[in-house]
Amino acid sequence: MAQLSVSGASTTTVIAPFTGTALHELPLSSIRDVQDAAEGAREAQREWHAAGFAHRRRVLLRAHDVLLERREELLDLLQTETGKTRGQAFEEIFQAASVTRYYAVSAQSVLATKRRRAGIPLLMTTRVSYSPKALVGVVTPWNYPVALGAMDIVPALAAGSAVIQKIDNQGALAMLATREAYIEAGVPAEVWPIVAGPGNEVGNAVVDSCDYVCFTGSTPTGTKVGERAAARLISASLELGGKNPLLVLADADPAKAARDAVYACFASMGQLCVSIERIYVHESIAEEFTREFALRVGALTQSAALDFSGDVGSLTSQAQLERVQAHVDDAVAKGATVLAGGVARPELGPYFFAPTVLTNVTADMQCFADETFGPVVAISTVSSDAEAIELANNTEFGLNASIFSGSLAHARRLADRLNAGSVNINEGYRGSFSSVDAPMGGMKNSGLGRRNGPEGILRFAQSRTVSQSNGILQLPRSGAEFAAMAGLMITLLGLLKVLRRR
Ligand code: NAD
Repeated sequence: MAQLSVSGASTTTVIAPFTGTALHELPLSSIRDVQDAAEGAREAQREWHAAGFAHRRRVLLRAHDVLLERREELLDLLQTETGKTRGQAFEEIFQAASVTRYYAVSAQSVLATKRRRAGIPLLMTTRVSYSPKALVGVVTPWNYPVALGAMDIVPALAAGSAVIQKIDNQGALAMLATREAYIEAGVPAEVWPIVAGPGNEVGNAVVDSCDYVCFTGSTPTGTKVGERAAARLISASLELGGKNPLLVLADADPAKAARDAVYACFASMGQLCVSIERIYVHESIAEEFTREFALRVGALTQSAALDFSGDVGSLTSQAQLERVQAHVDDAVAKGATVLAGGVARPELGPYFFAPTVLTNVTADMQCFADETFGPVVAISTVSSDAEAIELANNTEFGLNASIFSGSLAHARRLADRLNAGSVNINEGYRGSFSSVDAPMGGMKNSGLGRRNGPEGILRFAQSRTVSQSNGILQLPRSGAEFAAMAGLMITLLGLLKVLRRR
């Protein structure tokens, strides 16, 4: 097993979801370990920054290749630790490699010193330059450890920052193996220490030690992290929960929509922040869509095999199994109809649960508004686009939404009315998720800030505006000089407005 860069005195046993047996003993860091790691990372960051963009580009492009060369090992670890299928593990490696290539080649141009319009043309010249924040704290969850880790860590490294990462216990091996790949490619080990342990101790210590914090996890924890960061006057990006809707419009092909909706809802057993938990289907195609959808969900192959033979895998933990079972039991007790699934599948493994389709879900049920974060989707029928939009937006969350339609123009028009950080047309989440040049994040209680794209690296840069007086004309200093120049300056303002100058 790869070692934690900061070893801890105590350990915890990590369970393999496919079997329920002990997988490994994970060292747990102390608060002192976090502080030492942070200090070491700050020291190493100076050289990493001084090495320059060209060096970091070479290293990251090499890391891209090492990651892909080691994909079989990484896929095995991801499957074994999270219980997901090989296909969904593959999505993680694909995403990590994409984001690594993207920031390797784009960091320098985004963070290059740029000229901006000076307030007083000719007299002044203004430029903006960037310095990296020295130490970025990254707190990652267990569901997509490698992809989500890479989306925060790689841009920080590309910017010239160091990173201290607090991993979740589940997924630790995959993340440690991923870090090894970057170290082999030339990222100094001290620039990216990893720590593990309870969130309210080790996570807090990470927030207390860094200059910016990237948090991915639940809305309640993210809110606490945001408050703690604010108390230190450091910024944070908070990538939080969702209750993501899918709109199936009247002009959609119901059979095709049903086929595509299955992946949108059940990839990684719904343990994915952007996965669909609510479907609003137009009444004109509701019957055909629902019949076909339930049939296809019932026919999914559920498997623990370390190959591409399974469509869906297992839930990741006992806690996840209990949460999903509780949401389904509550809904059924209050009158929901189960069209597929609804039961655990212990014959396959301890945390297997059958992908579940519900109808007649009402506001008094837990799964109506709360994120299940599992393989449970509720179908409702609507009579118009307006009703679908209203219901889709009727949530505290605003992470992802999806529209299935026979007309891209129709779908794009509706997309602009959805209060969500990403909207996918004729896809569940993969369009926006894989578009690493475009910002990703949540509206409302789904988060704060954005990862990916230029926005995702500007998080780690402090801007410095450098403005110079060109010596052509001295700005007024005394009352007399203002009196002499005020008229000229008013004329200048008028001229700039006429010329539509920014
Ligand atoms: P969680 O909030 O319980 O834990 C996430 C991480 O935060 C873990 O590493 C945990 O140890 C750590 N943590 C816990 N308390 C902390 C504290 N006080 N300070 C700092 N760190 C602390 O979330 P979870 O249940 O593990 O993950 C599932 C949730 O994450 C879901 O709500 C899901 O929607 C969300 N999520 C969001 C995104 C996104 O990009 N928006 C991606 C994946 C998961």
